[in-house]
Amino acid sequence: MSRILVDRDLCEANQACMRAAPEAFRVDEEDRLHILLDEVDPALRPKVERAVRACPRRALAIVD
Ligand code: SF4
Repeated sequence: MSRILVDRDLCEANQACMRAAPEAFRVDEEDRLHILLDEVDPALRPKVERAVRACPRRALAIVD
């Protein structure tokens, strides 16, 4: 099972991850990031990996 981790001290809520994978990430009106998936489905993993790489703050990781 793979999960998404976020370092909230690094996240600046710029929505790059949400644009890359809206199935997995949502930044709300109060600039809070929500991880929408409890686990990363293999079919979605490439997209989530792109979102992780898109984060300019390197705040995201996938752990297996
Ligand atoms: S791309 Fe990174 S900094 Fe931007 S909202 Fe997502 S986790 Fe936060």
